[in-house]
Amino acid sequence: MSAAENQELKQVLHEHELKATSQRIALLKLLEGTQEHFDAEEIYLELRERQKNVSRATVYRSLEALVDQAMVSKLDFGDGRMRYERSKGEDEHHDHLICEQCGKVIEFFNLEMEAQQLAVCEEHDFTPSTHTMHIFGTCSDCSSLTK
Ligand SMILES: [Zn+2]
Ligand SMILES: [Zn+2]
Ligand SMILES: [Zn+2]
Repeated sequence: MSAAENQELKQVLHEHELKATSQRIALLKLLEGTQEHFDAEEIYLELRERQKNVSRATVYRSLEALVDQAMVSKLDFGDGRMRYERSKGEDEHHDHLICEQCGKVIEFFNLEMEAQQLAVCEEHDFTPSTHTMHIFGTCSDCSSLTK
């Protein structure tokens, strides 16, 4: 990790009034650098590989603190494991396809779909703040296995 990147993450944490502990930085760094949607236990294991002295309790607590500050998003894919990903800006919004066989998560963005959702809100005179779209099913790898 470069010193400049480190400094930038410290600054971000500071803006969110969180102490820039090395664990929090490592956590953000991990989530920023992956397309995976890890659960808390997976994050803990990943961090432990990179750094010694990582405690499970601290990782879980740090995650919740980052979720509270909306720096990290918590996703419920309905299988009893909460996943985490780095919160993205408005312009980086995406939705998810989730394979029920292997757990693979595919991110997608579809402008038409987004526009339709806004149209629905408008119809109901509803002001949306945020949404998450999860489509469950079987990925191409898994469906080719059963053919
Ligand atoms: Zn969306
Ligand atoms: Zn699959
Ligand atoms: Zn995602």
